[in-house]
Amino acid sequence: MQAVIIAIGDELIGGASVDTNSAYLSRCLAERGIVTASHVTVGDDAGRITEVIARAAAEAELVIITGGLGPTLDDLTRQALASAMGVELIEDARSAKRIAAFFDRIDRAMNPSNLRQAMIPAGAEALDNDYGTAPGIAASLGQVKVFVLPGPPNEMTEMFERKVAPRLPAAGALARRILHAFGSGESDIGERIADLMARDANPKVGTTAKGGIISIRIVATSQTPADADAAADKTANEIRHRLGELIFGQGDQTLESVVGEGLKSGGMTLATAESCTGGMIGRMMTETPGSSGYFLGGVVAYANSAKTAMLNVPAEIIKTHGAVSEQVADAMARGAREKLGADFALSVTGIAGPDGGSPMGQADEKPVGLVYIALAGPDSTKVHRHIFSGARDIVRRRAALTAINYLRLVLMEY
Ligand code: AMP
Ligand code: MG
Repeated sequence: MQAVIIAIGDELIGGASVDTNSAYLSRCLAERGIVTASHVTVGDDAGRITEVIARAAAEAELVIITGGLGPTLDDLTRQALASAMGVELIEDARSAKRIAAFFDRIDRAMNPSNLRQAMIPAGAEALDNDYGTAPGIAASLGQVKVFVLPGPPNEMTEMFERKVAPRLPAAGALARRILHAFGSGESDIGERIADLMARDANPKVGTTAKGGIISIRIVATSQTPADADAAADKTANEIRHRLGELIFGQGDQTLESVVGEGLKSGGMTLATAESCTGGMIGRMMTETPGSSGYFLGGVVAYANSAKTAMLNVPAEIIKTHGAVSEQVADAMARGAREKLGADFALSVTGIAGPDGGSPMGQADEKPVGLVYIALAGPDSTKVHRHIFSGARDIVRRRAALTAINYLRLVLMEY
């Protein structure tokens, strides 16, 4: 079954408020294995609303509309639906009574315009609203089921759960998995699993990129929960196989939490020495509860003098190679490891921008985004050179994540 969700209101298309109802409804429908074909947002214009309803009914078997059920003249959904159905609006006696009773209960005089809310298309059914005055509407356009719900989110969700959900086709079983990857772009990952992302495939596979992390969503629908689980797991395993060590975790796991688990299970500790990331790695590594079990601490060494004083980075190295250099990253990581007595130390030194880079094309070129990341471990220290693109905050976050990811890859060998 496919659905179209229609959000109605001038405030939505004008940008004064954001359509959260449609997102909520799509999530609820997905849980029942109903695919949302599209979201449509339309202003308070009866003609347009009628057109949109007619088009939606031609495209989908289920149409859910929210908004435009208020008592004022700009609330036109009822009228528009009646036009789409080719019928008149008639007063629903039970709704009229409920509206009158509602005003009685809150001890306020009812405005005659409130009774406009009791009008529904002939042949439709009113859906009681326990939280407000506007009843919802259940109607049919040919074979298509149409539900109209009030705009205020609390009234909408309540009415959906109680009045609409029970009338939807019985949910097939659904299983979800989400895998997280780091170290490659969304397009590259998308290409490697392109065949699994076919639009009408089951399980359905999709990717989203957020802050450098690529998440791969898998949704399997089937008759029984066991079948759905098996199908979701099979696809998840195939994706893990194809993407290898790019996949760092699943579900609620973060790069930091996975590295934390790795350190903890090996009984190992971490220290940090950060320049351009300004403590971001330390903050990320301490976001997981229980991080005191493996994170010893970090030094934010911004100035050259701080690198020397706190991390024993020899002043001559900084003078010869510059603060942003392989040699300084190496010395920072080794310094932090020794000073804090940790098994591993991560260091970062770079040019986050927007200023501070040197022109491209020179022999000693140090462009904005140039970052050296070092990881000092029990056996050796390794330095990696990167040029990250993007604004300052993006360069910093990428650098921090990349550093943590190097530790993850090394921990896989332990
Ligand atoms: P209405 O049913 O058009 O009178 O809607 C009343 C109020 O509900 C609006 O002023 C909004 O604050 C809210 N509302 C309407 N539609 C939405 C929507 N799609 N998402 C979130 N809030 C909405
Ligand atoms: Mg409105």
